[in-house]
Amino acid sequence: MNVPQDTQSDRPVPLLDMSRAHDPLKSEILAALERVVDSGRFLHGPEVKELEQSVAQLCEVDHAIACASGSDALLLALMACDIGPGDEVLVPSFTFFATASAVWRLGARIVFVDIDPATFNLDPALIERRLTPATKAIIPVHLFGQCAAMDSICQIAERHGLWVIEDAAQAIAARYHDRPAGSWGQIGCFSFYPTKNLGGMGDGGMLTTGDEHLAQRLRLLAAHGMEPRYYHQAVGINSRLDTLQAAVLNVKLRHLPAATSRRQQNAARYHELFRQAGLDNTLGLPATMAGGEHVWNQYTIRVPHGRRDALRAHLAQQRIGSEVYYPIPLHLQQCFQPLGYAEGSLVETETAAREVLSLPNFPELTADEQQRVVAAVHGFYQSRQVQAA
Ligand SMILES: *Cc1c(COP(=O)(O)O)cnc(C)c1O
Repeated sequence: MNVPQDTQSDRPVPLLDMSRAHDPLKSEILAALERVVDSGRFLHGPEVKELEQSVAQLCEVDHAIACASGSDALLLALMACDIGPGDEVLVPSFTFFATASAVWRLGARIVFVDIDPATFNLDPALIERRLTPATKAIIPVHLFGQCAAMDSICQIAERHGLWVIEDAAQAIAARYHDRPAGSWGQIGCFSFYPTKNLGGMGDGGMLTTGDEHLAQRLRLLAAHGMEPRYYHQAVGINSRLDTLQAAVLNVKLRHLPAATSRRQQNAARYHELFRQAGLDNTLGLPATMAGGEHVWNQYTIRVPHGRRDALRAHLAQQRIGSEVYYPIPLHLQQCFQPLGYAEGSLVETETAAREVLSLPNFPELTADEQQRVVAAVHGFYQSRQVQAA
């Protein structure tokens, strides 16, 4: 290709620009909010039920239960499976903190499992060697918008009688072998944090399940275990989705399929641009699993040979946004030191944490902006410093 000039006079390319998504929907969103204001039903409004039904349909499950955040969804899922002291739960270490902290908060033991370097997701080949008689559940994370190898993971779980709780916070509408994220495990957990593919204007979360009994249990636990009113059957938590959030999310959900396909188009375009620039062997471009549909919450490359932070600084100089998800694996976090994981204990996770860099990829990102990103990366590798290194 004609690699565009790597100039500093160009306009910034933000990592994420939410106003581009919201501006065209503004009157639709404001009208939905106004209806809630007029109704006065700020909790348990009909918009919440509508969102639950839409998410259940999207995830091809019978039940969806709204809650206050993705973090609460994970906590509630583990509570519904009666996970507690004496139990062990397998989780990846290369994920957002909430995946593991939910296990910790219930007094269960976190058992970290390394990732498949190609997908950044839990490596199913490593699961069985971490099982003990105390293992009760696995929490695969569909990181960056791509499903973990759910067929293998669910087979292993079934063989050993383990719960599978999907952390699908980054993967709404992702599919694997023609089944959606959130429909593989006993429970799926979603987040509506603003930067997720279906992002609200504040916090929000959702649980999905095909099991009627679990659905009832989740609803009970999210409402202080109270049923009927002021009679408490279990010690639950207070975790509700505001009607105002649900109203916003119902509007945005109608535009999710178009937004998802634009993320996919952007990912394909990055791939092609990096290939044309001759960078596809220099960098690790994100791989997609056969039989899967990636929804690209993040477009995450690997920058090998210790150059990631220098590339990131170079992009920042060119006013191009980027982010490192996640720089410190969970097994090396200070708060989890009591678990006794040393550096070197999860090699692929630690390598990924050193190499990953997420580039701008939001639905409204333009082809010009993508060219600018790729040109800036190209410029970095062309620079004398790097050649001499
Ligand atoms: C965002 C996220 C969460 C937590 O969701 P919140 O709604 O912010 O509580 C959990 N797990 C993963 C993988 C996430 O990306």
